[in-house]
Amino acid sequence: MLNETERNQVECDVPCNLCNSTAVDVLSVKDRKGNDLRTVICEKCGLIWSDPRPNEELIKEFYSTEYRREYKGIARPKKKHVYRDAKEAIRRYRFIEDLLAREDSLLDIGAGNGVFVYCLRKLGFNAEGIGPDENLSRYAREVLHVPVKTGFAADLRDEESYDIVTLHHVLEHMTDPSAELKNIRAMLKQHGKLVVEVPNAEDTWQDPKNRYHKAHVYTFNPETLIALGECAGFRALRKRIAPHNGNITAVFQKRGRCLHNSVDLNTNYAKITTILRRHTNYRHFLSVVPYKKILVSAVAAVAEQIAVRKFFTDTEIIDTVIDSEVKPEGTTANSGAYVEML
Ligand SMILES: [Zn+2]
Repeated sequence: MLNETERNQVECDVPCNLCNSTAVDVLSVKDRKGNDLRTVICEKCGLIWSDPRPNEELIKEFYSTEYRREYKGIARPKKKHVYRDAKEAIRRYRFIEDLLAREDSLLDIGAGNGVFVYCLRKLGFNAEGIGPDENLSRYAREVLHVPVKTGFAADLRDEESYDIVTLHHVLEHMTDPSAELKNIRAMLKQHGKLVVEVPNAEDTWQDPKNRYHKAHVYTFNPETLIALGECAGFRALRKRIAPHNGNITAVFQKRGRCLHNSVDLNTNYAKITTILRRHTNYRHFLSVVPYKKILVSAVAAVAEQIAVRKFFTDTEIIDTVIDSEVKPEGTTANSGAYVEML
């Protein structure tokens, strides 16, 4: 955040995707690797984005071939990643299982290696996916034998075709999230549901210097995510926030054209900047969080190694996770996340 003199000079290349304002404050001028990346926050509503915006074609190319390699160092998932993705897929399923009916058609946008689609199909749902990474979508089709197309959701022209669309860690990468949500709304049947999971702008679990990187064009907090969904013609049904202001998951339902604003955005800019100002490197490393993270990662790594050792195939790993994690109805695992019905 800049001082008053510097702020007067701040201009943005693109207006706010949520409220169309051009009044912004600069949050950061570097990404997590120390490269130039200017991140701004809308002073009117609190939406955060990279400005100037990275070239759209470069972003698409980046996701098609480089994203997985850059972030995980692999093009085909290792067994421990398949195990981890299966556990994550079941956690995501459990958040929406009461909303699913057996005959429901579901589209997972940004389906990656297809583990979530595989789990849902195994649990009896009519699920398919789409994702830009050629290697991962081919893995989904050829190894897991599930229908995952290679491509971008914006290129789909499926009108009123799905009961549920899921977007896990996808919306923050899109250059026009508002238009994407409206496009998804058109793909949903009447009263269809949309599940969106994104990183949280208020996250205090991560190291403050790792907050922004070039792959995330937008960063949301619960208020801006709900407001964006409502502006695109949805009603918010529920939200979940992971511990330490972690990932936000929101469930929306398609509604009529009339706009519904349940969120007060007037104080949101002040709310976010206050949280970010308090979350300094000094405070972060004096807290238990970084040390707890190391412990959690170490325990998870050992558990993954033990869990995958006895399996020959990736589908054996996923099937075992489904069998052990999908418990009889009425037994809900407590993840420590904050859940609110809206
Ligand atoms: Zn705004």
